[in-house]
Amino acid sequence: MRLLVVEDEKRIADFLTRGLQSAGYAVDFAHTGNDAIERVHATEYDLVILDLGLPDVDGLQVLQKIKNRKTIPPVLILSARDSVDDRVKGLEQGADDYLVKPFAFVELLARARVLLRRGQPTPEKLQVGDLTLDCIRRKVTRSNESIELAPKEFSILEYMMRNRGRPLSRTMIVEHVWDMDYDGLTNIVDVYIRHLRSKIDDKFVTKMIHTVRGIGYMLDIPEMHSYASGVDAGTA
Ligand code: CA
Repeated sequence: MRLLVVEDEKRIADFLTRGLQSAGYAVDFAHTGNDAIERVHATEYDLVILDLGLPDVDGLQVLQKIKNRKTIPPVLILSARDSVDDRVKGLEQGADDYLVKPFAFVELLARARVLLRRGQPTPEKLQVGDLTLDCIRRKVTRSNESIELAPKEFSILEYMMRNRGRPLSRTMIVEHVWDMDYDGLTNIVDVYIRHLRSKIDDKFVTKMIHTVRGIGYMLDIPEMHSYASGVDAGTA
């Protein structure tokens, strides 16, 4: 899940970015309206958190630009303007929710999660074989046994389960799960995959995380025939 935070006040932006990152989201940050417009056109975001009072372009104008896109991410407006007028204007122009400053981070997170869920065409629970991932409660089980994952491990596993059977490159995983500018750090993926394997695969005969040579990794259960014969179970 990749989020864009548009906020010119550095203190608030840092606070939001840190909080959202520790909740397991990849977060990009724009501190002007123009920067936000550029980013929204270049990247598919799952949610935009948009401050209205920006130094260059008004936040409502940024909102309009976002709404002109072909694929429109949900927008949560964040503003000190608490007049009913502004709230109505924001919602009329297509914002999905509105939070008035100052706000508690837990409230922002709760609202962000609702919007992220809404934009999600896929089910709230992902299942591959006996491995289950609950996207809402953020719980993972295998053979009904609960597995504790760190936020990044969870995000990688969720991404891999959503793309079951599809080889994912390290770059794809990094871009999806980490923040920008992780160039050259793709071996961090290997470290996390090792952690994930030790948590979800090591104890079990059927391995789900497969190394795809020359590409990266893929999550799937081996085909029944190779599984039964014990051949190529690791590369199906
Ligand atoms: Ca502002």
